[in-house]
Amino acid sequence: MLIDLTDVLSCDDKVVTKTACVELPSFDSNLGSFPLKEREPFTLTLTNLGDDKLLIEGRVRLAALIPCDRCLDEVKTFLELVIDKEVDMKQSAEGRIEDLDETDFVIGYNLDVDKLIYSEILVNWPMKTLCKEDCKGICRKCGTNLNHGSCDCDTVELDPRMAVIAEIFKNCN
Ligand SMILES: [Zn+2]
Ligand SMILES: [Zn+2]
Repeated sequence: MLIDLTDVLSCDDKVVTKTACVELPSFDSNLGSFPLKEREPFTLTLTNLGDDKLLIEGRVRLAALIPCDRCLDEVKTFLELVIDKEVDMKQSAEGRIEDLDETDFVIGYNLDVDKLIYSEILVNWPMKTLCKEDCKGICRKCGTNLNHGSCDCDTVELDPRMAVIAEIFKNCN
């Protein structure tokens, strides 16, 4: 979704509120593609600070489906994004490209809501995702999700030094 900024930029101190929506179907990064859910419309407040500076504020709550780090089950993870960005409209387009990370969501006099949301998700992405604190994970031998059932694999992991001793005893018998 693009929001035309010419109205708010027409005079200093002007404040415009817009109802925006997140159209981005998923958050795609080098970690993978994560579907986004609960994309409710939200309010963006645009304030002309004068001197060609624009303040963009808003709050968005989204859910991302992220696999659990241990068992890979999808976990609906809520992300609370607080948008508070100041954009210098005087900066030339070339200048903005050099600073891509900050203002690539403003193209000419348009605000690209999805790009803005993407940059906010990036900084708010959870370091760790677990379906529950005591997730048992999956069996490394057969792949059974140990939260839902058990398997018959021998998962007792011997200390490598113990394994040597066990081997000696086996040879004695
Ligand atoms: Zn899990
Ligand atoms: Zn198993």
